[in-house]
Amino acid sequence: MSKIKVGVLGATGMVGQNYVRLLENHPWFEVSFVAASPSSAGKKYSEAVSGRWHMPVPVPDAVKGLVVEDASQVAKAVGKCAFVFSALEMDKQAVQNLECEYAAHDIAVVSNASAHRWTEDVPMLIPEINPDHLAAVETQRRNRGWQKGFIVVKPNCSLQSYLTPVYALMQAGYEVRRMILATMQAVSGAGYPGVASMDIVDNVIPFIGGEEEKSEKEPLKILGRIEGGKFVNDASLVISAHCNRVPVVDGHTACVSIEFGPKKPSKDEVLAVWRKFRAVPQELKLPLAPLQPIIYLDAANRPQPRKDRDNDKAMAVTIGRLRECPVFDLRFVGLSHNTVRGAAGGGILNAELLKAQGFLD
Ligand code: NAP
Repeated sequence: MSKIKVGVLGATGMVGQNYVRLLENHPWFEVSFVAASPSSAGKKYSEAVSGRWHMPVPVPDAVKGLVVEDASQVAKAVGKCAFVFSALEMDKQAVQNLECEYAAHDIAVVSNASAHRWTEDVPMLIPEINPDHLAAVETQRRNRGWQKGFIVVKPNCSLQSYLTPVYALMQAGYEVRRMILATMQAVSGAGYPGVASMDIVDNVIPFIGGEEEKSEKEPLKILGRIEGGKFVNDASLVISAHCNRVPVVDGHTACVSIEFGPKKPSKDEVLAVWRKFRAVPQELKLPLAPLQPIIYLDAANRPQPRKDRDNDKAMAVTIGRLRECPVFDLRFVGLSHNTVRGAAGGGILNAELLKAQGFLD
């Protein structure tokens, strides 16, 4: 089977570099097009990332020599790739326009940017939770007169540390009414060079612009449903989020307290749900899907970013410290790798789901 040719927009950035390394030797996809800002355009990829390549492996040979294009020149991508991963850090309106332009040129867009997360006909996907939201793709194409192009997005990186475990409990029949969460988010979440070292070393910053709003609202769309061709948010859940930047390189941690409806699970029942949980990516055996999406660790001092962020290809959510909560019902600590599961790996899993369901044919 010949591989599907893919492009990476924002290929020189923190998320873009993760796409380039994770796609090396991917069984279905190969990188054939890389694009970034005008300051990188015209350079070979290896030159464009020289001095700022942060991956633990060398720049893949197949991408080294590709010439970086200016992402705004959409016509350059036509004929070179079937779809693009978008990891652009630009003004929101500019990203919205550019992603629509790619889709209008018959190039599907799998985006990490927040620009289209609230666009009415764009699905915001976590493949273990809402693969059914892909039904919106046909509506989107109809609305906009696009033939092969479409846009799907993934949510903010912090959600991955807690939403799948909470969804697993909902799916098992437990109503989750309220959640209070405090995140401890890695510096790589701010891109490169990101937060200045003088600000973050020996410190915690109790504010990340826009992050609390995303953590509180994005789950409601993901847990919602499609009605009459439109997304209807889950109205049963209320979330209060405190988001903090901490001096960790990779791995977002979340401390979560949950209040259930009248049916309250015991700790053993929660653990049984988490250990048993499998979803569409596992059933379809998607290449980057974690075998076990939720890993529970019994040790009292886990999960920890350095020790647990890479579990199962850095695609699993690792949970620990499940215990009673004197204010709500139960509380736990969740961890996921922000630039893999929360960014490039999550985007690739979205694309694998799209391919498996025939959207990239
Ligand atoms: P980053 O390291 O700052 O990289 C930004 C990328 O955008 C670079 O490739 C840059 O190209 C390109 N770019 C900037 N201005 C541009 C322009 N005018 N035209 C075309 N390309 C331009 O950012 P990042 O952390 O990778 O984040 C990328 C996107 O993913 C953002 O939307 C972010 O919110 C989202 N995201 C990030 C994470 C994470 O954990 N880091 C997680 C989830 C989602 P040059 O190198 O040429 O400047």
